[in-house]
Amino acid sequence: MNKDLFLKAAPILNQIQENGFEAYYIGGSVRDYLMNRPIHDIDITTSASPDEIEAIFDHTIPIGKEHGTINVVYQNENYEVTTYRAEGEYKDHRRPDEVFFVRDLYQDVERRDFTMNAIAMDTDFTIRDYFGGYEDIKQKRIVTVGPAEERFTEDALRILRGLRFKSQLGFEIETNTYKAMKQRMADTAYLSIERIIVELTKLLAGKHVAQVYPLLLELHFFDYVPFFKDYQMDHIHIDEPISLELLLAIMMYKQPNTNGALADLKISNEMKKTVKMYDMLFDKLETLSEKKALRLLVYDYGLPVLSYILTMHETLNKNHISTGHPLIVNQTSIKAIYNDLVISKRSDIAINGKIILETLNRKGGPWLKDVLRNIECAIINHELQNEQSEIIKWVKANV
Ligand code: ATP
Ligand code: MG
Repeated sequence: MNKDLFLKAAPILNQIQENGFEAYYIGGSVRDYLMNRPIHDIDITTSASPDEIEAIFDHTIPIGKEHGTINVVYQNENYEVTTYRAEGEYKDHRRPDEVFFVRDLYQDVERRDFTMNAIAMDTDFTIRDYFGGYEDIKQKRIVTVGPAEERFTEDALRILRGLRFKSQLGFEIETNTYKAMKQRMADTAYLSIERIIVELTKLLAGKHVAQVYPLLLELHFFDYVPFFKDYQMDHIHIDEPISLELLLAIMMYKQPNTNGALADLKISNEMKKTVKMYDMLFDKLETLSEKKALRLLVYDYGLPVLSYILTMHETLNKNHISTGHPLIVNQTSIKAIYNDLVISKRSDIAINGKIILETLNRKGGPWLKDVLRNIECAIINHELQNEQSEIIKWVKANV
């Protein structure tokens, strides 16, 4: 049930109230509850100061105390409890210069981004909705709290958040809010790339990304983002949810002469590796013409990666990237091949480099890597049995 998480957290709110302060559920959890969507985490807003919250609860973690946020640990769960806050001036289009703790809920919700995110809810599920957020949810509208242009000028991340919410929720962006997005988009150049990437990743994974991608182009969003700004993003087609890594691989594969440095995006090395792996895989799929080669592909890249690529075949094909002939490469064939693999990794080979060196009485070198790869391929292709004596015979005959 959708109420469960709130009921679990209710004792925290009750305890704050018993100590003479106000406390409400706030933000995404209330929005999602009112929309009947699954709730992932619960945020609490309170009139109590961070020190007062620490005094009330036995187990707290001061994760963002200077901004008013204390984690309250209750029944092994973490709850973010944030003091009502008003914000000072914004000078750099991304962060207020100072925040003030206040005792009035209205001042706290007034600084929030969208009306749907500014609804406070009590433990008995009554809402305090100063800006008509519930009506906007019912009308499926994304509307800023207060004048849109001002709110986006203060913090340009709100523009991306609005587009991200549209992609996740399928709402319309109210006319003035959209106009202001257009007017203030250039301010996103002040945002850190890390925060942009967080929002963009969520946006791309949103169910309604097909409706939002054209807006990103219309708003010239990519013009202000490192790396992306060098690519012709209007040549890229996206009409279904997609991972950031796959999008990057498509861009780089389709526009190889663009010299964007992936490092500018400050994504993890693991993500970069995934991008490069997709890129290599596209090359292989392009030239794949027989089942034998597919076996090696399934072995090298694994089932989850290939399966994901096939799920995305429509997007890839629209972007003129081949996913192989559907009669050869399909979900059924790759699963069957995978289940049939003689070995699943290099260490499964019944021989190792040391034994090969001993057998051939040779010194190690780059050639050994090639030999091991050839053995691996021969085993995968059923040309060689995975038995040490057989492999030794093969090595003596072939090296
Ligand atoms: P999600 O479901 O993705 O967590 P959310 O709305 O809860 O969405 P959070 O980033 O968790 O988003 O932020 C919690 C709340 O804090 C928001 O609902 C909103 O009220 C407020 N908020 C977050 N970022 C901003 C911002 N840049 N400007 C103003 N208010 C913000
Ligand atoms: Mg949240």
